[in-house]
Amino acid sequence: MEDCLFCKIIKKEIPAQIVYENENMVAFEDINPQAPIHVLLIPREHFSSLNDIPEEKKHILAELLLAARQIAKEKGISKRGYRIVLNTEKDSGQAVFHIHFHLLGGRQMAWPPG
Ligand code: 5GP
Ligand code: ZN
Repeated sequence: MEDCLFCKIIKKEIPAQIVYENENMVAFEDINPQAPIHVLLIPREHFSSLNDIPEEKKHILAELLLAARQIAKEKGISKRGYRIVLNTEKDSGQAVFHIHFHLLGGRQMAWPPG
């Protein structure tokens, strides 16, 4: 996608602190962290939101989630816990329309979320 911010991060046209990447996905530090640990995980292929992931691409979701689990482990927050967020469309507050999981941790989370 030409003017997608996260596609530009994937293409390294915009700098980001990359935590992990492979042929399918990229994980990088959120520019405006909401917790001591705040990493975004995105597929290289552009999908606007969860609503746009086709059935035959569902393995991407599993790969992103397991990468989030691994990053949580490497950052030392597996045991105390963490939160994974997938904002989807307007009511959720989704601001960047390239699907992304948030990995948040390093502090006690509140519930219900805002
Ligand atoms: P959303 O609200 O769409 O679920 O989350 C978008 C996230 O992207 C926000 O947490 C925001 O801080 C982050 N973000 C927006 N622009 C940039 C950027 O240019 N670089 C990085 N690393 N994160 C960004
Ligand atoms: Zn994109």
